[in-house]
Amino acid sequence: MLMIPGPTPVPEQALLALGRHPIGHRSGEFSEIMAEVTENLKWLHQTQNDVLVLSASGTGAMEAGIINFLSAGDRVLVGSNGKFGQRWAEVAKAYNLDVQTITAEWGKPLDPEQFRQALEADTDKQIKAVIITHSETSTGVLNDLETINRHVKAHGEALIIVDAVTSLGAYNVPIDEWGLDVVASGSQKGYMIPPGLAFVSVSAKAWKAYETSNLPRYYLDLGPYRKTAAKNTTPFTPPVNLFFALQATLRMMKAEGLENIFARHDRLKRATRAAVKALGLPLFGADDCASPAITAVAPVSAEAEQIRSVMKKKFDIALAGGQDSFKGKIFRIGHLGFVCDRDVLSAIAALEATLQSLNVEFPAGAGVAAASQVLNAG
Ligand SMILES: *Cc1c(COP(=O)(O)O)cnc(C)c1O
Repeated sequence: MLMIPGPTPVPEQALLALGRHPIGHRSGEFSEIMAEVTENLKWLHQTQNDVLVLSASGTGAMEAGIINFLSAGDRVLVGSNGKFGQRWAEVAKAYNLDVQTITAEWGKPLDPEQFRQALEADTDKQIKAVIITHSETSTGVLNDLETINRHVKAHGEALIIVDAVTSLGAYNVPIDEWGLDVVASGSQKGYMIPPGLAFVSVSAKAWKAYETSNLPRYYLDLGPYRKTAAKNTTPFTPPVNLFFALQATLRMMKAEGLENIFARHDRLKRATRAAVKALGLPLFGADDCASPAITAVAPVSAEAEQIRSVMKKKFDIALAGGQDSFKGKIFRIGHLGFVCDRDVLSAIAALEATLQSLNVEFPAGAGVAAASQVLNAG
C-alpha cells in the first residue's frame, strides 16, 4: 500500500488499461484517445491554455517550463523552502539564468511579502519569471500561490512558473482564473497512473516569451508538442499504454467532480493531521499551510526510520522518509490521488500498532478515534 507522495496507488481501471496490447501512435485510434485526454486534462487544469503531455517524469516538465520561455542571463526569482524549490533553482542555474532565491526554512511556507518587495523594487523589469513550488512535497507545506501570483500580476512583466506536481488533482489550482503562465505536473501524483508522463500548461503570454527564448532545447522543445497536439498526435513515440490509463483515470475524475476531489483530499488531510496530533506525534509544518497531498511528522518518541520500517514490514504500508538534512528526522504520510477514508484509517491504525510494538507510550486508540471523527463529520 503506497502512502508515499508518488508513485501513488493506481485504480484497477487504469491497471487493466495498462495491460492492453499497445497500439500504433500514428493511428486514428490513438488520436481519438489523445483528443479525449487533452480535453479532459484542460478540464482538470481548469484552463483553455495548451496542456502538453511529455514522456518524462515531473522534473522533465519543470525543465521544459524553464528552457522554453527564458533566455541565458535572464533574472528569475525562485522560491525555495524544500527539496523541490531547490530543484527549481538548480535547473535555472544549469541554464545560466540569473537566479535570485527567496527562501524559507524547511517546514515553513514562503513569505509572499518578500516576493512583493522584490517585485516592487524591480522597477526596470529585469525579473523575467517568478518560479515556485505550490505544494512542497519534501516538507508537506502548501505555499500561498494565490497571493504570490497577485504580486507577480502587479509587476506585469514576469511570468509565473509553477510546480503543481502535488497540488494538481488534489487542490484548487484555477489556472485561467489566476492567470498562471506555466504549470508543471507529473502522472504518478494526483493523476492516479504510474510514473512516465509529465504535463505542462502554457499561457498565451508564455508562448509570446517562447518566441524570443534562446535556451538550447530539443526533446523538451514545446513548439513541436503544441503543433502536433493540435492534430491529436505527439512529436515522438509516447508511452501509449500510459495514455490508455490516463484516459481511464480522467474519466473517473470527471465522474467524481473537481469539488468532490478537492473535498476528499482536504478531509483526508484533516483526518491524518488530527490523528497524528492525538497520538502525541509532532506535525512538521503548521495547519494553515498544510499540503493536501502529504503530511510530514517529526516523531521524538521513536525514530522516524524505525516507524517506517515496521509499517512496511508488518503492514506493507510504504511511508516516505525525510530528505536531505531531514532524513531520519521526519516521515511523511501521502494521501494523494486514489486514496479513500479506509486507506487513511488503515494507515493510522497500523501506525498505532507500530508505536505499540516499538514500546512508545501513547494514548492507544486516540489516533483512530480522531481520524474517525473528522471522516464522519465529512
Ligand atoms: C514528485 C515531484 C516532482 C517531480 O519529481 P519526478 O521524480 O521528476 O517525477 C516535482 N515536484 C514536486 C513537488 C514533486 O512532488
